[in-house]
Amino acid sequence: MLKKTFVGAVAALALWAGGAFAQAFPTKPVTVIVPFAAGGPTDVIARIVGEHMSKTLGQQLVIENVVGAGGTTGITRGAQATADGHTIMMGHMGTHGAAPAMYPNLKYDPTKDFAPIGLAAGTPILIVAKKDFQPKDLKEFVAYVKANATKINEAHAGIASVSHTTCLMLQHQLGVKLTEVAYRGTGPALNDLVGGQVDIMCDQIVNLVEQIKGGQIKAYAVATPERSPALPDVPTTKEAGLPDYQVSAWNALFAPKGTPAPVVAKLSDALSKALDDPATRKRLLDLGGVIPEGQQRGGTYLGTFVAQEVARWTPIIKAAGVVGQ
Ligand code: ASP
Repeated sequence: MLKKTFVGAVAALALWAGGAFAQAFPTKPVTVIVPFAAGGPTDVIARIVGEHMSKTLGQQLVIENVVGAGGTTGITRGAQATADGHTIMMGHMGTHGAAPAMYPNLKYDPTKDFAPIGLAAGTPILIVAKKDFQPKDLKEFVAYVKANATKINEAHAGIASVSHTTCLMLQHQLGVKLTEVAYRGTGPALNDLVGGQVDIMCDQIVNLVEQIKGGQIKAYAVATPERSPALPDVPTTKEAGLPDYQVSAWNALFAPKGTPAPVVAKLSDALSKALDDPATRKRLLDLGGVIPEGQQRGGTYLGTFVAQEVARWTPIIKAAGVVGQ
């Protein structure tokens, strides 16, 4: 009897302590690992939602850019961080979708090694090029790329990054193999596209709107069924003659596995409040971001979604015959 009471008391104490811990969380600034270079799409989305989350949580969310290996270096670091909620990470369709098929020795399992917090933003993919790239529209782009593949440089953010996987899809559909140039993120890659040092890129809209509107780069099409309200003049791939090229990416927040559920719930709530904040929504929408609504929010949905994404990308990548390190 005594033993049972003791065990019961310990369990109750642990529950209370967990609840008390969550009540107090966060007790210090929260580090958000962004696994790509500053200024790129993942970094920009993390800073936009992080700014409002800081207000809700009462502690600064501090971005730490940990680059390399298509984002898997930073996510590996995040997966191994202390699971107390004070270190989280912004992953995406590459790190938590394509990576397992491209990295046989990946040091994490996107479906097991995280406590999902929630989707932050969907990011339609655009086919873009340096401003003096010869083709004037997507039909000419397809013909030109097929005829000149060996002379064309394609920029991306590393094996399994979104820019890499989505341009892999494009190359596969066109039956070509371009010369790939890897960067620490599509922020720096975009600088070279604007400068004309590289020719084309498949990238997330939130990185490109300003440069497209400013005429610094050329946008051939957006790979979503409808045009983006942020870029009403850019045709869809369907309108422009490449209907099979349909792809959109996403960025989402994760905590390491084992982070206490009440802490994860507090982080999910803060993310959701950010996505409901009018000023935060405007910043994301102006960049062409797609805001998750209703049942698309929270960790449960994200956990299921990640499993679906890994299952979706694995055969695509195997068919394209690409493996990372
Ligand atoms: N999301 C990456 C970045 O922010 C780019 C990519 O995955 O292609 O740089």
